[in-house]
Amino acid sequence: MNAIASPMCEHPIEIPSSVRKRAVILVVEDEPDLAEILCHNLRANDFECLWVQRGRDALERVSELHPDLVILDLMLPDLPGEAVLAQLHRKEGEPARPIIVVTARGTEADQLIGLSLGADDYLVKPFSIRVLLARIRAILRRTRPEARLEPTLSFGPFHLTLDREQLIVDGVNLRLTHTEFHLLSEIACSRGRVVRRGQLMDTVFGGADPFDRRLDVHITNLRRKLGEAARWIVTVRGVGYAIQDPARDHENSFAE
Ligand code: CA
Repeated sequence: MNAIASPMCEHPIEIPSSVRKRAVILVVEDEPDLAEILCHNLRANDFECLWVQRGRDALERVSELHPDLVILDLMLPDLPGEAVLAQLHRKEGEPARPIIVVTARGTEADQLIGLSLGADDYLVKPFSIRVLLARIRAILRRTRPEARLEPTLSFGPFHLTLDREQLIVDGVNLRLTHTEFHLLSEIACSRGRVVRRGQLMDTVFGGADPFDRRLDVHITNLRRKLGEAARWIVTVRGVGYAIQDPARDHENSFAE
């Protein structure tokens, strides 16, 4: 078992080291400020982030490091992003690699060119980091299911079998709806960090407006089914949810 602490969680929770292997994302972006923001957010959301500024470096690094996904800016200093995109798809003997194109260009024609060259998705700058994360997760769920859907996840009295959506608490099998299970596993996978409401809305409901109450309704239902064990789900008012050992009694240790 690993003890995992985060800046938001004063007291680490125990989660098996086998819980997840981080997906590796290569960011190809010549603007350092944007690259820094991207990598910061990717790392905060449990991805490994590698950054290169030039297209040629991207082609080299992809062969060396085999990232699980590439975020590619089309306006690069050395090569047109379209050429990088095309070459990434021509790499013989390597598996197809998902690519999300991000660019300041936003005409419909540009988007179609990006997608026709093999990009899996396309975002126009400026874009929401949350939307980017939701798109990354959606792609990785298809291409690398083990990154998000590890076989099992255990903490405290909880044991989740992720592919079968089975939850056992203190040895008792609890029946959850698909949405309830998805919410619980998303919160649990955050390793004790606060999972923001917006992030849950994006990943579980595919996005929603701030007045959408679906999340609250499902969390209430989930808590009711969990009974005593619901104390493991800590509500950080106005921010989100986290898993924390209630025996440690540190509801206020989650600071924003
Ligand atoms: Ca650029």
